[in-house]
Amino acid sequence: MLENHPALLRTAIFTGVLLFFLIWELLSPYRPNSVSKVKRWLINLGMTGFNTVVLGLIFGAAPLMLAAYVTKNQIGALNALAAPYWLKVLLALMFMDFMLWVWHLLNHEVPLLWRFHRVHHTDLDMDVSTATRFHLGELGISALIKLALIYLLGLDVLMVLLFESLVVATAQFHHSSLKVPAWFENIWYVLFVPPSMHRVHHSVKIRERNTNYGTIFSLWDRFMGTLLTAVDQAGIRIGVGGHFEEKKLNLPQLLVMPFTRYVR
Ligand SMILES: [Zn+2]
Repeated sequence: MLENHPALLRTAIFTGVLLFFLIWELLSPYRPNSVSKVKRWLINLGMTGFNTVVLGLIFGAAPLMLAAYVTKNQIGALNALAAPYWLKVLLALMFMDFMLWVWHLLNHEVPLLWRFHRVHHTDLDMDVSTATRFHLGELGISALIKLALIYLLGLDVLMVLLFESLVVATAQFHHSSLKVPAWFENIWYVLFVPPSMHRVHHSVKIRERNTNYGTIFSLWDRFMGTLLTAVDQAGIRIGVGGHFEEKKLNLPQLLVMPFTRYVR
């Protein structure tokens, strides 16, 4: 039923997973907050609300409409492939996640893209709300890339919805400030990204930050040599050097940040 109401499905998954991890975080936080959680949540969710409205106005249901169109007209690589449907779904998820890995790497390596992506990294604590803190510019460009990939790969509606839902759920999980049992992290880490792995990526040290780019799978970092796990978790300072003043990280300042002084 919800498949016919993608906006509703998206909101349900986003809110459901967010609340689930928020409650878990409050009950069992990984470490005490260094700044007010309430203030950060207002900023991060304010940003998400703003992005949702603007991107909704620009793109609407374009990804799903395009997916329905390419399926109907049998356009794209997956439609030319003679393989079982389940295999096509798996290939679609893996390829899209690998593209997200490449996009994330470029966001760190290309100065113009870093101007936008650093807004995400300026969060002074990391929790499930950090997964929603992205600048509109970054999300706008990535939405355009996603449309191109839907067309070239020939993704159908289910593949798009599944990919989007998994990205939301896994990103919220690995940004969360949960105390996750070591045995679970060790198993999860074989294929996926646990919070400790992504915490290294939010370190203020550039050498640590420019690693662990994965969103759903940890495989790409493993294969591409960007995996870093040998870091003292308790010693990780979250944020971007040069952006440590909480009072300079409010919503309007974050929105104009890409157009201000460049900070690595
Ligand atoms: Zn990043």
